[in-house]
Amino acid sequence: MFYVKEKISPAVDVTVDIHDDNVFCTCPDCGCEVNVDLAQLFLAGEGDLYSTSVYCVDCSKPRLKVSSNKK
Ligand SMILES: [Zn+2]
Repeated sequence: MFYVKEKISPAVDVTVDIHDDNVFCTCPDCGCEVNVDLAQLFLAGEGDLYSTSVYCVDCSKPRLKVSSNKK
């Protein structure tokens, strides 16, 4: 199990298990919150969490027109 660990104060640590439904990023186009499936991200060969952006459904639609991905 992977988890995120953040020190809030010298006395308080917060750890949150990472699941496929609690990872989010901000859509670089419209700024809305996007639920990210890390397994799909890694499957697509995107392992760099600093430089990888995930577009929301609405913003990714026009981008997917050129590909055969029907999702
Ligand atoms: Zn968007």
